[in-house]
Amino acid sequence: MALERTLSIIKPDATRRNLTGKINAKIEENGLRIIAQRRIQLTECQAKAFYAVHAERPFYGELVEFMISGPVVVQVLEGENAVAKYREVMGATNPANADEGTIRKEFAESIEANSVHGSDSAENAANEVKFFFSDCDIVG
Ligand code: ADP
Ligand code: MG
Repeated sequence: MALERTLSIIKPDATRRNLTGKINAKIEENGLRIIAQRRIQLTECQAKAFYAVHAERPFYGELVEFMISGPVVVQVLEGENAVAKYREVMGATNPANADEGTIRKEFAESIEANSVHGSDSAENAANEVKFFFSDCDIVG
């Protein structure tokens, strides 16, 4: 199995409800290591750029507004098959469809305010990690 990295974001609905510790406990319990981490306020420009792939979707404007509505925690996770593993730990986009024990099942408020982001492929993970972290920020 391959040691991989993926980008995780704890979204504003979760920072607002003081859930960063509980979410990161689930991440760590599932064997993923948090090897870089920063709590930041996204600018509108950053949120638009990060979600540019969704620019044509009807929820894009609201998604950008939501992502800048409070602080987020951006972090790099490392582990065996980290991209797929973290998607599993997060659960489905819509918490109504998420499996028991997943972050979104336990904590998400709605399909939009769903507490966490995770990269969806190794290629996107590499680009998303670079979006927030330089190599020297990733301390292991
Ligand atoms: P995921 O985060 O599971 O990879 P997507 O990449 O499809 O999901 O969507 C990105 C984010 O956009 C979601 O996590 C969620 O915050 C928001 N979103 C997705 N679908 C909808 C929707 N139908 N209505 C509102 N917001 C949505
Ligand atoms: Mg996605």
